[in-house]
Amino acid sequence: MKSISDAEWEVMRVIWTFKETTSKEIIAVLSPKKEWSTSTIKTLLARLVEKGLVTSYRQGKHYIYSPLISEEEAQYSELKKSFARICQKKHAGLLLQLLDETLMTNDDLQTFSKKLAQKKQNTVEEVYCNCVPGQCLCMHHRKES
Ligand SMILES: [Zn+2]
Repeated sequence: MKSISDAEWEVMRVIWTFKETTSKEIIAVLSPKKEWSTSTIKTLLARLVEKGLVTSYRQGKHYIYSPLISEEEAQYSELKKSFARICQKKHAGLLLQLLDETLMTNDDLQTFSKKLAQKKQNTVEEVYCNCVPGQCLCMHHRKES
């Protein structure tokens, strides 16, 4: 998936919410949050269309925009991208920190408990460093045999 900038993400959220929308509606939603002009929104929309994340068609005087990628898919992709930038030895620690800071219902907690119980059947002896030497200090690479 092509990367989505912070500004583009703001626009995508409106398109995901409305499913089909116009630049006018997007401006109405975002104007209390951002002081963007019509041309800024139109530039962002053009970029999203160019990236293949949004499609548009003309209806009378207006263009109708709709998403080509689901919100869930994009959210997951963004998180995966962040994790890919970090040594995999540090992932579990970061998840733990996120878990600590994430607001959760009792139901969410139940889901996590079940997942952890399943995960017990699927652990590794050691998580290896997957970094290029010189970009990470842990250096716990798998021994080449
Ligand atoms: Zn590493």
